[in-house]
Amino acid sequence: MNKGMLIVVSGPSGCGKGTILAEILKNDKFFYSISATTRNPRPGEVDGVNYYFLTKQKFEELIQNDGMLEYASYCDNYYGTPKKPVEDMLNQGKHVILEIEVQGAMKIKEKCPDAVFVFILPPSLKELRRRLNKRGTETEEVIEKRLSEAAGEIKQAYKYDYALVNGELSDAVNDLFAIIRAEELNTKNSKNTIDEVLENA
Ligand code: 5GP
Repeated sequence: MNKGMLIVVSGPSGCGKGTILAEILKNDKFFYSISATTRNPRPGEVDGVNYYFLTKQKFEELIQNDGMLEYASYCDNYYGTPKKPVEDMLNQGKHVILEIEVQGAMKIKEKCPDAVFVFILPPSLKELRRRLNKRGTETEEVIEKRLSEAAGEIKQAYKYDYALVNGELSDAVNDLFAIIRAEELNTKNSKNTIDEVLENA
């Protein structure tokens, strides 16, 4: 068994990351890292499923206790990746998916340079605005704030290994599967496969 890969997925709010990942996660070789956040739950979001919804104080305690693999402040709230489940799942051979914003992704790049970095693009900024309005989960003010972040985030897509456009959902899902499969076959991730062949003389 090879160790699992850490797959970091970013993209502006409303680009459809969650919808693409929901398809990928139907396969149980993937583990979705549940983040912690200090933002309020949206209608329908469940603590421990979508996020761990924490107070600022509790979040800061976790940081102090070295419990976070990374964390960042985004649109006035903390978001972070609890470290232990990620390490446990990678050791069990699962591919761990981090759906995180750019600052956090860059921290992961420093700590875990072998991770795979994928940026999801909307077809255009105009389409992104349309999707955020349609989602209707944020106030007008929050939508404007997120849109004003979006162009700056997209400019950082060059720091990722791959960028794919989420126009047609099925194409985007296939693209992400193709990236993951290619990375699985990369010799840096298939050391045990090679050793196993040599052992079976
Ligand atoms: P939302 O409030 O829409 O759920 O998330 C806002 C942004 O925070 C998204 O870009 C999302 O990917 C990012 N995010 C979610 N969890 C984490 C995390 O654990 N760490 C970091 N750095 N960003 C996160």
